Amino acid sequence: MRKVETDLIHEGEQYNDTRAVTPPIYQTATYLAGGTMEEQLSDATGTKSPYFYHRHGNPTNSQLGEIVAKLEKSEDALLLATGMAAISTAVLATVVAGDHVIVQKAHYAAAQVFFREFLPAYGIEVTHVDQTNIAEFEGAIQKNTKLIYLETPSNPNLEITDLEAVAQLARKNQIFTIVDNTFASPINQTPLDFGIDAVIHSATKYLGGHSDLTAGAICGSKEFIHKAWRRSLLLGASLSPMDSWLLLRGLKTLSLRIKQINENALTLATWLEGKQGIQKVTYVGLPSHPQHALASKQMRGFTGMLSIELAGEDEQKAYANAQRLLEKLDIFANAVSLGGVESLITHPASLWNSTQQPGTPSKPAFPLGLLRISVGIEHIDDLKADLQQALESIQ
Ligand SMILES: *Cc1c(COP(=O)(O)O)cnc(C)c1O
Repeated sequence: MRKVETDLIHEGEQYNDTRAVTPPIYQTATYLAGGTMEEQLSDATGTKSPYFYHRHGNPTNSQLGEIVAKLEKSEDALLLATGMAAISTAVLATVVAGDHVIVQKAHYAAAQVFFREFLPAYGIEVTHVDQTNIAEFEGAIQKNTKLIYLETPSNPNLEITDLEAVAQLARKNQIFTIVDNTFASPINQTPLDFGIDAVIHSATKYLGGHSDLTAGAICGSKEFIHKAWRRSLLLGASLSPMDSWLLLRGLKTLSLRIKQINENALTLATWLEGKQGIQKVTYVGLPSHPQHALASKQMRGFTGMLSIELAGEDEQKAYANAQRLLEKLDIFANAVSLGGVESLITHPASLWNSTQQPGTPSKPAFPLGLLRISVGIEHIDDLKADLQQALESIQ
């Protein structure tokens, strides 16, 4: 079988029917009708069509679908405008009013709001469980449970869900499973290997890799992707031709980028652990991570996502230290998002404490001294030196 590195460059080339080595950007909303009336009708309704109307498909999106499906070892994949479009479309293709969904306590912030506010408002019941405790998933199953939705490693706590255990439980109870695989990337983790039914990605992150586009992907069986595609026609979050082309370009280097990012992050996390001024380093690749063994079982690499908790006599001091560190850093840029070639750092408590539960000011979900880091592909010596000078300046 052809390897991932090759698929990233060559899969789905049949969708480029020009003689250009790099496919053109199909910057068009609509396509000339071809063939008989029957053929036109099947273009519109039969399947994902690359040549009908943009909401139905685009040749670059079709090529991307082939590549991303290969990456996730799924039959098919659908590309959409954002990761949130992938999440909402995939979930709304699975459940209707009266159904019940099991989700984790820790999720990407907007997904969290989708599960806490949007689904219940449309008559879909949601139970939030501790992702590290398989008994909680089992205990939450009801007669009307249709979906278990997972995220591992989760944002920003970097907790791991046992994919195989949840998949087995779900299959036994005929419940569909979806995993947000954004943090891991398909280079490091392929949830379908463990019996999971479908995967979603914010392709804005590692898949795109250059912080220059937003996109989302849904991967699964042909049947599920067809259902999701039909939902996407109504929800309407189509991936634009330009972003589609940028994503195709970004994907070519995915395996190279992830190799370097994995290496940089492991080196950095190991170096940061025990450093003065830092109370705690959380990285799934460190033996000190409470779920390191599980991570090692289901992941091939440990990603570029890590977090540090700054020391301080109290929360306020830790908060002040975190703010000062953000100001002093030069290479690590204070910005949301992740998975790009550049290293980014964010302060979760400022951004996301309001989206979490318990989200009370007296007991915040995220410690005030916590910083989340997305490690990029800069030289490791420069990354270390930047953190070193910033840490020294807050002592
Ligand atoms: C960013 C992100 C999303 C949402 O993706 P967008 O492209 O921003 O809509 C979903 N899940 C995770 C884990 C993310 O990091």
